[in-house]
Amino acid sequence: LEAKEEFSHKTRAMDVMRPRKNDPPLTVITQDTMTVEDVEGVVTSTTYSGYPVVVSRASQRLVGFVLRRDLIISIENARKKQDGIVSTSIICFTDYCPPLPPSSPSVLKLRSILDLSPFTVTDETPMEIVVDIFRKLGLRQCLVTHNGKLLGIITKKDVLKHIAQMANQDPDSILFN
Ligand code: ADP
Repeated sequence: LEAKEEFSHKTRAMDVMRPRKNDPPLTVITQDTMTVEDVEGVVTSTTYSGYPVVVSRASQRLVGFVLRRDLIISIENARKKQDGIVSTSIICFTDYCPPLPPSSPSVLKLRSILDLSPFTVTDETPMEIVVDIFRKLGLRQCLVTHNGKLLGIITKKDVLKHIAQMANQDPDSILFN
């Protein structure tokens, strides 16, 4: 069961995850410092299916994962139906939202749409294992961490592309999978 040694020469999660070396950083949402306007900016300027939620940009500690469509629907609904929700309202994904000065707009609480236990692997995890996990658990995406810090994301499509690439380069590896 020493998977590490057996696969040490093979592709690892860090080789398949996004962002790649010269890509812009992963698009994340912070748990309690971004405004409605900030998050609307993220969902309109990117097309990703989802976003990791982190404690802070500096820490990159993972809190959960939020789907783009859930964010769009929740913000739209809140703007229409929830009193006091405006562009400058803070969005809060934490259990307990810290009280703000009385003059500030209402906080939009979105913990209910947060997946609190998104699947994660470390950057060193061999891709054979990642592929296996995607297959067995039917994952849509998986987050990649190093020492508990968020590094990247691998989607189902990234995995399929990786499998296709392996099949082209090395026909035996697909059998191996
Ligand atoms: P798909 O892989 O099915 O097209 P996405 O649109 O979510 O799904 O992702 C497109 C690409 O962007 C993938 O290669 C994925 O790894 C990457 N990606 C997904 N989410 C993010 C994100 N929040 N920040 C940066 N890159 C991401």
